[in-house]
This record gives sequence, structure tokens and C-alpha cells, in this order.
Amino acid sequence: TAQAQEGKTYQIATDITFAPFEFQNSKGQFVGIDMDLMAAIAKDQNFSYEIKPLGFNAAVQALQSNQVDGVIAGMSITDERKQTFDFSKPYFDSGVVMAVKQDNDTVKTYEDLRGKRVAVKTGTEGYTFADSIKDKYGFTMVPFDDSSQMYDDVKTGNSVACFDDYPVLAYGVTQNTGLKLVTEKEPGGSYGFAVSKGQNQELLQKFNAGLANLRSNGEYDKILEKYLGKDG
Ligand code: GLN
Repeated sequence: TAQAQEGKTYQIATDITFAPFEFQNSKGQFVGIDMDLMAAIAKDQNFSYEIKPLGFNAAVQALQSNQVDGVIAGMSITDERKQTFDFSKPYFDSGVVMAVKQDNDTVKTYEDLRGKRVAVKTGTEGYTFADSIKDKYGFTMVPFDDSSQMYDDVKTGNSVACFDDYPVLAYGVTQNTGLKLVTEKEPGGSYGFAVSKGQNQELLQKFNAGLANLRSNGEYDKILEKYLGKDG
């Protein structure tokens, strides 16, 4: 990353495994839509930063306790989070959906979850949604720290389903991760870059300014197309 004029290197926390937004390539480098957006925005706005792949919940907690300057992690802008964080302009629409193992033909609706285990990811919108319907549909939740552990729990059959963000599960289907989507998308917040409330306002302004520039110069579309293809 380029050296910032002021000499400040922002610490930006992210998730570990949340393709296509952040994930490790075969060389162990963190790549993805969030990683490319951050790099392009930093270049456009001339600041330097370091990526800290902490995992989603840990990243959010690190931001809350001001151990990092910002979070970019497919983090949904929600009213509850707005009490604690300031968000950039939204940069990607999301929503929560349920997935099951590819060869599972018995679990198709929330009603089919009765008496079963459902894998969830701590601290996420998917967790909050599952928690909000678990009593009505009578399932138990098995929490994980990252998405790949959560998917593995479904693939091994320990849990029958999981809840995660639509764009991530849909991308996983194209990558043959062994899961399929079975429900309509529940409405959720769009993704935004976050700083602690009232902190790092200049970083937030730079993010917004850079994002606006990338949207108008076509680079935003190019980054999305790189990971999602032409129709993404
Ligand atoms: N978008 C979801 C949230 O903000 C999940 C984010 C993630 O798991 N990286 O809760």
C-alpha cells in the first residue's frame, strides 16, 4: 500500500472467509470485492492501510473497542449497529437466506427445521434472523465463528441447514461448495464500511469520496465483474 502523506496507516479489520467479499487465494493472499474496493479507494484517496483478517465477530468487537480504525467485511448497515458505528454509503445489497446440503430434498422451508440443528455464525444478521424464528419453528442453533466452519457443519450432516448472506451463499453455489439455497431472501441491510461512532471521520469521508469516484469512473463495476461475472 502507498504511504499516506500524514504517515498514518489505518488498521482495517475484516472477515476470514466470506467469498466473494474476502477470502484467501491459492497464494494465501486476501482477495475479494471488499479487498479490491479498499485498495482502489486507498489509492484514489492516497492513504495507507493494513488489513487485519480477524473474523467477522472479532473484527466488529475490535472496532467497538477502537483497536482498529475501520471494518470492511460484508458488514450490513443496520439500525442497531448505527448506535455504535458510523457507516459509509452502501456499496452492495444483501439479505439472509437458508441453505442446505446439495442432496438434501427434505428440508425446504422453515417448518422442516422442527427438532433439527441449524448452523449459524456468531454476531451476524443471519444469526439474528435465525434467533428470531427459532422458537416459532422449534430448531436449535449451533454457533460458529466463520462461514466455512458453518458450511462444513451442514455438509457433514451435524446441522441440516444454515443461514448466511444471499450474495455469499449464491456465490458458493457457483463455486460448488456443496450447498444449495432453498428459501426466498429475507430483507437485510446493505453492506457498508464502518468506523466507530464519532471516530475516524476523515477516513469515512475518504472512503465515501473514493467509492463515489470508483462508481463514476467504472472501476466499481470492474471489481464486481471480476468476481461475479458480467451478470453479477
Ligand atoms: N452481512 C452480515 C452481517 O453484517 C454478515 C457479515 C459477515 O459474516 N462477514 O451481519
